[in-house]
Amino acid sequence: MISLIVVVCVIVFFGLNYSIEQKLNELKNHTITQYLDITDSRANEVSKELVGIINQVRMISKSTIIQSMDLNIIKDYLKSLIEDSNIRSMTFSDINGKAWTTYDSDIDISNQEQYKSIIIDQKEWIISNPFHSPYFFEDIPIITISHQIKVNDEIVGLLNAVVTTEFMNKITESIQFKNLSFAWIIDSNGKIVSHPNKSISIDQSYNNILQYEGSNPFTYNSGSFNYLDENNRSMLAVYSTIPNTSGWKLIISIENRNAFTELTSVMNYVDYALLISLVILILFALVYANSISEPILRLRHVFERAEKGDLNVKADESVKNEIGLAGVSFNHMLQEIKNLTYIDPVTQIGNYRSYLSESNFIIQSNKNDTYYVVVISIDDFKKINSLGGYGFGNETLKKFAELIQTQLHEDEIVARYFGDEMILLLKENDLEVLRERISVLLKECQRPFIIMDIDIHLSISCGIAKHISTDTIEMSIHNSTIAKLKAKKMGGNVAIFYGDGINQEIKLEQDIEKELYHAIDRNELYLVYQPIFDLKSMKISGFEALLRWNHPIYNSHRIDSIIKIAENSGQMPKIGRWVMKEACYQLKALNETFPDLSIALNVSMVQFNDSYFIKNVEEILKYTKINRNNLIFEITESSAMNNVDENLNDLRRLKDLGIGLSIDDFGTGYSSLAYLSQFPIDHIKIDRNFIRKMTEESSDLMLVKTMITLAKSLHLEVIAEGVESLEEMNILKSLECDKIQGYLISKPKRMKDLEIVS
Ligand code: C2E
Ligand code: CA
Ligand code: CA
Repeated sequence: MISLIVVVCVIVFFGLNYSIEQKLNELKNHTITQYLDITDSRANEVSKELVGIINQVRMISKSTIIQSMDLNIIKDYLKSLIEDSNIRSMTFSDINGKAWTTYDSDIDISNQEQYKSIIIDQKEWIISNPFHSPYFFEDIPIITISHQIKVNDEIVGLLNAVVTTEFMNKITESIQFKNLSFAWIIDSNGKIVSHPNKSISIDQSYNNILQYEGSNPFTYNSGSFNYLDENNRSMLAVYSTIPNTSGWKLIISIENRNAFTELTSVMNYVDYALLISLVILILFALVYANSISEPILRLRHVFERAEKGDLNVKADESVKNEIGLAGVSFNHMLQEIKNLTYIDPVTQIGNYRSYLSESNFIIQSNKNDTYYVVVISIDDFKKINSLGGYGFGNETLKKFAELIQTQLHEDEIVARYFGDEMILLLKENDLEVLRERISVLLKECQRPFIIMDIDIHLSISCGIAKHISTDTIEMSIHNSTIAKLKAKKMGGNVAIFYGDGINQEIKLEQDIEKELYHAIDRNELYLVYQPIFDLKSMKISGFEALLRWNHPIYNSHRIDSIIKIAENSGQMPKIGRWVMKEACYQLKALNETFPDLSIALNVSMVQFNDSYFIKNVEEILKYTKINRNNLIFEITESSAMNNVDENLNDLRRLKDLGIGLSIDDFGTGYSSLAYLSQFPIDHIKIDRNFIRKMTEESSDLMLVKTMITLAKSLHLEVIAEGVESLEEMNILKSLECDKIQGYLISKPKRMKDLEIVS
C-alpha cells in the first residue's frame, strides 16, 4: 500500500518535471531567438561599416579623375584621399591588370581574385576575405574592397581599397554582455576574421577553436549550436550572416550555463519546488493513508478478536469518519450480542457460554501464563432463597458477582455457572499468591452484606483446578467442579484444589453408586431402630428408623454419605420407598404388640420433591393398613425451608393423611421458630450438636432452653437427639424437654435385638 503510494507520487513527480522542462525548453528557444536578434543587428553593423567603405570606393571610382584613366592625376588624387580616411591604401588597375598602388609601386593583379571577379565576371564590387598583407608585416589582417571603373558603360579598370579588419574587432569587442560572452567573425571559408583572443589568427579556421560533432555548423544564414571550447566548456554559439559579404558570419559565443542563467535558476527552482512538493506529497499521502489504514487495521483486529470469542474488545469510536461510525455500530452490535447471548440477566455478568468463549480466547492469547478455573458456590444458598424469596436470592447473587469482580485482575473473568455457582478464570503464575488470593476471597465473602436491608454473611465453597494446556477448558471446569463438590462435602467455607486424591474419591463414589443400584435386589438394605424415650413417662414412646447397607465392602461407610450418593444419582426415591414400606411393615408388626409405639422415618429433600412421593405414601398406607397416627416423617429443617410454598402444601396433605411430622436437625438451619409455626408440624428434634455442647457451653444451654420454650409456646413436642449421658438427660428433663433419643437409651439396632419395655 505504502510503496504503491510512493511509486505513484514518484511517477507524478517525474511527469510534472518533464512537462515543466518541456515548457522551459520553449523559453530557451525564446532566449536563443533574442541572441539571434543581437547577432543579426551586430552583423548588420559590420555590414554597414563595409557598405560605408564600398560606397566610398564607389564614389571614388565614379569620380571624373578616376574615369579619366590618367594615372598621373589619379596618383595624386588617390594619395590625397587615403590620408584622412580609414583606407590604408588603394590600388588602381586598368583593364589588363596593370596596377598602381598608393605605396607608389606598379604591380600586376591580373591573377588576383578581384581582377577575375570585376573585369572578367563583371561584378560591380567585391570584398575579399581577410588576409595578411604580402607587403607589410603586421598582426592585423586586411581586406580589400574592389569596385569596377566604368566609362560609357564599359568596364575600363578597377579600384581597390585596402582596410584593416580593426573596425570589425571594435564591433565584436563591443558585443560582450555580462562579460560572459564574446563575438567573433569568420569568413566564407570558415577562417577567423575577427576574434577577441588575439592569439587566434586568421590562419585558423573555426574548427580549430571549437569541438563540434557533425559537419559545418554554419550551414544556415543564421542559427545556433552547442559546442565545447578549448577548455571543454559547454558553449552556445549563435550566428548571423553579415550582409554584403561573401557569407561571413558574426558569431556570439556564450557559455551555456550563463546563456540561460535565469532559465537555469527557474529550472532549479522548479526542480526544488517539485522535489519538496513530492516529499510533502509522499508524507501527506503516508500520513493520510496511515490515518485511514491504521484505524482500519485496528478495526479489523477488533473484529478478529471478537470472532475468536473475545467479547470484551471495543472498537475505537474516536475516529472522526466512517471508520469511527463503523466502530460505534460494531460496539453496539457486540453489546447486543453480549447481552442476548452472553450476559446473565440476574447478575449482569457473563454466563457459562461467554465463559467458554472468553476463557479460551484469553488462554490462547496468554500462552505463557498459568490459569486456574475456579468454581465457587454459595453454601446453603437455598437457605438464602427461602429467607427472603426469589428476588432476595437474585439480589444476593448480584452482590456476590460484584464482589468477585472486585477481586479480578487483568485477563481474568467471572461468569455465572448456574444457580448459585460462579465460575472464574484466574491468572496466577505463583501458586502461593493464588492461595492467598482465594483466602482473601473467602474472607471477603464472609463480611456482612446488606441486601434489602437484611444483613447476611456468605460462606462459599471453592473448587480450583489448574488449567493444563492440553486439556479443554471444559475438562478444567469439570475438575474444578469436582473439587468444589469436595469443598461442599467438607462443610463449605473452604477452597479445595483438584488433585489425584479427589479423583480417587470420585472413583469411590462412582463405585458405590453402581453397587447401590443392586442393593435392594440383593437384599442388602435393612433398617435399624433407635428408641425415642419419653421423659415424662420414662418409657420408650417410639423408634426412629435408620437405614443400613449390608455390603461386603461398603458396609462400614457412613450411611449419610451413602444417602448423599443415592440422592445425587437419583436413587433416593426408590430407596426411600423401600424404607417406607419396610418401616410400615415393622410398625404394623410392632403395633400388634405395642399399639402406642410410633416409628419415625427420615424423608430426604430429594424424596420429598419427587412428584410421586405423596402418591406412594398413600399407596403404602392403603396397602399396609397401619395406624397412621403412629407414623412420623422426619424432614430436615433445611429441606422444609426449601421451596416453602410447595412444601407447605405437601406437608398439609401428609398431615391430612394422619401422619405426624417432625423437623429434624432443628437449630442448624436459619429459620425462626415463629416462621415454622405455619408448618403443620408436631415435633422438633434438636440437633445433637447442641445437646453435645450444652454441658460445656452455657450459650448452647441457653439456646437449647430457648428452643424448648419456643417450641412449647407453639405447642410442639421437643425431642433431643444424641443424648449420651445422664447429665444431659437430667438437664433436658429440667428444661421440660419431652423426649430424648441417643446412645444413653440405646444405639440403633435391629428390631429383633431391641428389648422393648413399654
Ligand atoms: P439423623 O436423622 O439425624 O439420625 C440420627 C443419627 O444420629 C443417626 O446416625 C444415629 O445413629 C445418630 N445417633 C443417635 N444417637 C446418637 C448419640 O447418642 N450419639 C451420636 N454420636 N450419634 C447418635 P445414622 O444412622 O448414621 O444416620 C445418619 C443420618 O443419615 C441421619 O441423621 C439421617 O439424616 C440419614 N438417614 C439415615 N437413615 C435414613 C433413611 O432411611 N432415610 C433418609 N432419608 N435418611 C436417613
Ligand atoms: Ca432423623
Ligand atoms: Ca437428626
